[in-house]
This record gives sequence, C-alpha cells and structure tokens, in this order.
Amino acid sequence: MVLVMTHPENELFRLETLVDSSPIPAFWSSIDSGSIEYINSAFYSLFGFVLADLSDVRSWYHLASRQPDFYSQMIEPWLGETDLPHSIRDIQIKLFDKQGNICDVNLCFSIVGHKRLWYFNDVTNYCVAEQRLSARSNMLERVAKSSALVDTLHMLVKQIQYETPQAICSVLLFDPQTQCLTMGAAPNLPEAYNQAIDGVKIGLNVGSCGTAAFLRQRVIVEDVFCHPYWANFHDLATLAGISACWSDPIISSKGALLGTFAIYKAKPSVPSIKELELINFASNLASIAIESFRAQEELERRAYYDHLTGLVNRGYFFELCEQALSLALTSSSPIAMIMLDVDHFKQVNDFYGHKSGDLVLQALAESGRSVLAEEEVLARIGGEEFIVLLPGSTQAEATKTAERLRMKMENCMVLSGDNQKIYFTVSIGVAYKVTGQCSVDEMLSCADKALYQSKAAGRNCVSVLACQSQEMLF
Ligand code: GH3
Ligand code: MG
Ligand code: MG
Repeated sequence: MVLVMTHPENELFRLETLVDSSPIPAFWSSIDSGSIEYINSAFYSLFGFVLADLSDVRSWYHLASRQPDFYSQMIEPWLGETDLPHSIRDIQIKLFDKQGNICDVNLCFSIVGHKRLWYFNDVTNYCVAEQRLSARSNMLERVAKSSALVDTLHMLVKQIQYETPQAICSVLLFDPQTQCLTMGAAPNLPEAYNQAIDGVKIGLNVGSCGTAAFLRQRVIVEDVFCHPYWANFHDLATLAGISACWSDPIISSKGALLGTFAIYKAKPSVPSIKELELINFASNLASIAIESFRAQEELERRAYYDHLTGLVNRGYFFELCEQALSLALTSSSPIAMIMLDVDHFKQVNDFYGHKSGDLVLQALAESGRSVLAEEEVLARIGGEEFIVLLPGSTQAEATKTAERLRMKMENCMVLSGDNQKIYFTVSIGVAYKVTGQCSVDEMLSCADKALYQSKAAGRNCVSVLACQSQEMLF
C-alpha cells in the first residue's frame, strides 16, 4: 500500500512522526533561517534540552560546545563540503548536555525540503571506555616503570574528573604508623584545604575520607552540612566550595588499607550508577599504583638500609663514601670518618639477653642521628660497629663530633625487656683526610686503627689519625 500525503501539514506530521520514533537523537532546523523547529524525544533524553531552550543552530552550538569559534571553524566548513542532500562524513564532537555533562557524539545531517535534519549518534560510552582503557594502560606503564607515585595518582584524578566534569577528586595516602592520611593527589582542591587535610588522623566523624579509612567502608555523604561525619569540618567544606563527598577506602590485594579515593561535588548529591563504577575503577587503579610503589620502596629499603636500626647499610655506605671522596678530591675540601664500636657488647648480650642487646643498638642509632647533621651519614657496618661519614669536616670538627657522640652514648640509658637500666659506652676512631687521594678502604682501615688505639687505651675514648694514601707513601 502506498501512502500519498500531498498536503504540507500532512508532510510535516509525517516527518515529525518519523523523527520522533527514531532512537537516534535528532532535530531539524530551517535551512534559510537556521532556527531549530523540532527536536525528537531521543534528543531530549540525551541532552535534556526542550525546544524552548534552543533558538537557532549557531547559538545552540555555542551553548553546547562552549567554544566560541566552534561553529565557524568546524560546522560551517563541514556544511559546505558537499552538494549532496546529506553529509558525506560525520564529525565526532563533544557536546555538553543541559546539566553540564559531556556527551561524545557522531554528528551527521540530511536535507529534506527546506529542512536540515541533524542526527546525533551518542558514542559517549564507547569514548569513555576507550579513554579509560588508555588511561589504565598509561597508568600501568607508569607503575611498571616505577614512576613517581604522586604523578600517577595525579593522572588518575585527572581522568576521573574528565569523566565527571562537575566532580573534584582526591587521593589520600594512609600511613599505618601514625594512622594518618597524607596528601596523594588533589590538584583541583584549594591549597589551604589540602594543607588542612594533610596529616589528619583517621576516625569516626573525621569527614568522609577519615571515616571511610577508619571503617574500611565506602562512605557516601550527600550533604556535608547535614551529616555528623562533617560536623567539625563545615568551614573547610565552605572553603573548598563542596557539598557532597563520597569516599572509598583503597585496599591492597592483601586487604591492607592504603588510602582513600574521594569524589566531591559542589551541590548535595548521591552518586549515579556510572559514578559508582568510576569510584570502583579509581580505587582499583589507585590500589595497584600505591601497592606497587610501596613494594618498590620496601625493596629499596631492604637493599640500602639496615633492618634493625634503619640506618644506611654497609653496601650503601660504601657507595655514598665513594661519591663523597671523589667530590672532596675535586673540590679540595676536607673529609672525615668516625668509627664506633660498642664496648664489651658481648657482656650486654650475655647479661641482659640478645633482644635487649638489639634495643641498645637501636638506641645507639637513634641517639647518634640526634647529634649529627643531615648531611652526616650514620651507617651500621657490622654487628655493633657503626660509622659516620663527615663530608667537609676538618680534623678538629670531626674530633668534636666524635666526642659529642661518645658523651651522648655514655649518658644514654636503655630499658631492658624486664625494665632493667642498661648503660653502655663506645670506643671511637677518627680518620681524616686533608689533601690528596684516599680510597674508601684506606679511610676505613685508618679509622679502624684509631679505634683499636681507643680500645687499647681503656675504651670509652676517642683516637684520631690522619689518612694517607698508600700510593703516596711509595
Ligand atoms: P669490645 O669492647 O672489644 O668491642 O668487646 P665486645 O664484646 O663488644 O666485642 P666482641 O666482638 O667480642 O662481641 C661483639 C658482640 O656483638 C658479639 C655478637 O653476639 C654481638 N652482636 C653482633 N651483632 C649483633 C646484633 O645484631 N644484635 C645483638 N644483640 N648482638 C649482636
Ligand atoms: Mg666489634
Ligand atoms: Mg664491641
């Protein structure tokens, strides 16, 4: 059966019915005036605009693309590409809906009489999936290359913010020792807000993140000004211009708390299904990034630091020493080394037990660090043998430092496991170099000789020797 409708009103009616029944968002505009005359229901569902919101095509694009020159640069040249009654290609563009969400659409048109029919094929989900896949592989690549954690988290936050433009995101890192949250990445929150949050102790009613970390559970706060978790943080929320905050604990593959991932919104709201998916995605990726970074950190710690005292270990000390000696040589600056050995330490172990002996070694490390400057490296190079590298120190300065260390140890009291007071002393050997070349081994053997002199002199004292290269003696 052929339906013949010649009356213009009937034709219009037919076009409306056809366009409205289309699952593809569409509208038509007058070719002559450019005014938008009809939008279909799929268009309204996708963008949220009704006909009254839109006047003509140019102002609609200005509104939806938010780029002043978009229409003249992109749309006009494209419209002139063909004489055919339809576009020969479609263009992919990003358009904002009425609520400000970004939609990725493939746009094409056809011409029907004096109308231009525009079709908006929604490819947002496809683009988001593609973008997320690429963000994920970028981040995993960064993790594999051991890039800086902060940069990786920054990238993650930017990706989530890209997917939900009205959202501000943050990643906080959990420190199990202090039970505090420290800043991971929150590039779009005000600096003053980030500073106030940095170092906050987790607990119930400590905002969404502090509470989520404390409970190890996702916390959705729809309106921070009406929620007990935020009762003490209204000023901060006002400062950051936020009203809603949804926070997810970031959990490692072994179930340990690593931090929190949060989405903030300016208006009170609860997450959509899409936003809940985003939170899962972000938490998972953040977990991989933080866990892998911490594992790397742990490996480095084990490779370079002593497990009992946390001091630089023997191997790393040699490395640092090589560098310091060559720098001293090129800059013709003095350098010195202090070697310490606990006196009669075997007796400490025998009398108070090995565990208490360990406590003495830890106390020695802590006390030693407390009297040394930042650039003075204290290392544990043997059981109860320690060494200090003093770049730039003269004989007099190194001797003074050695004496300070000796006195510090003499006055240090350690409580044994069964609360007995343990006192200990150290014998010290100082080796210094004024000019010329000296190897690490030569400096160490010189300090060792000086130390032996202190032991022979009755212990708990300081002996000093100048280091001269064997090469120079022959
Ligand atoms: P001296 O004054 O001549 O240095 O006597 P000393 O007893 O300190 O020296 P000695 O070399 O006879 O003994 C060192 C002891 O240090 C023996 C060893 O069991 C102990 N020791 C080495 N490493 C550790 C450690 O990690 N923990 C504990 N508790 N003891 C250690
Ligand atoms: Mg010893
Ligand atoms: Mg000893």
